[in-house]
Amino acid sequence: MKKVGVLALQGDFEAHSRALARAGAEPVLARATSDLDRLDGLVIPGGESTTMLKLMNAEGMVQPLVVFGQKRPIFGTCAGAILLASEVTHPAQQSLGLMDLTVERNAYGRQIDSRVAHVTPEPDFAQRTQPGDLEAVFIRAPIIRRVGANAKVLVAYQGDPVLVEQGRHLVATFHPELSSDSRVHELFVSKL
Ligand code: GLN
Repeated sequence: MKKVGVLALQGDFEAHSRALARAGAEPVLARATSDLDRLDGLVIPGGESTTMLKLMNAEGMVQPLVVFGQKRPIFGTCAGAILLASEVTHPAQQSLGLMDLTVERNAYGRQIDSRVAHVTPEPDFAQRTQPGDLEAVFIRAPIIRRVGANAKVLVAYQGDPVLVEQGRHLVATFHPELSSDSRVHELFVSKL
């Protein structure tokens, strides 16, 4: 069974552990650089990207995470997507730069900052998992404003990409770990 780390510095890492187990992987909580050894992949969960960055810097984990991502798949959800991007706006902040994306934080505004939507995945997603709409839970979500030439949009919502793949990496601006449908985690596990 593939071992998938879940970065457990802050955020909703427990829900990701359960979703990974449902998708047929062995979840392992990762809190320090040495925990990255022997993992087949890593999930960076939702939470508060600014707080996660502070903790990553305090643990000296920023560079080790970049090096890990040069060899192994990383799946970032919401704050995790912000951390994987090459450019972050509103406001600008440090990121791992593992995917060629521009991400605007808290882009849905304060009034309706959380919602549950039903989205229709692109045919490529359905072919690699199972067909059917996907529940997408957005919580103070960012919007992916630009995707690089090597990125592939697997799901869009209101015209914006919400599930994007670039090579071995995957990002979602929603929270698939909060829905009972495990197709997004299955797709990630299939990339390991
Ligand atoms: N608003 C958060 C941030 O900017 C992300 C929210 C989330 O991960 N649910 O980091």
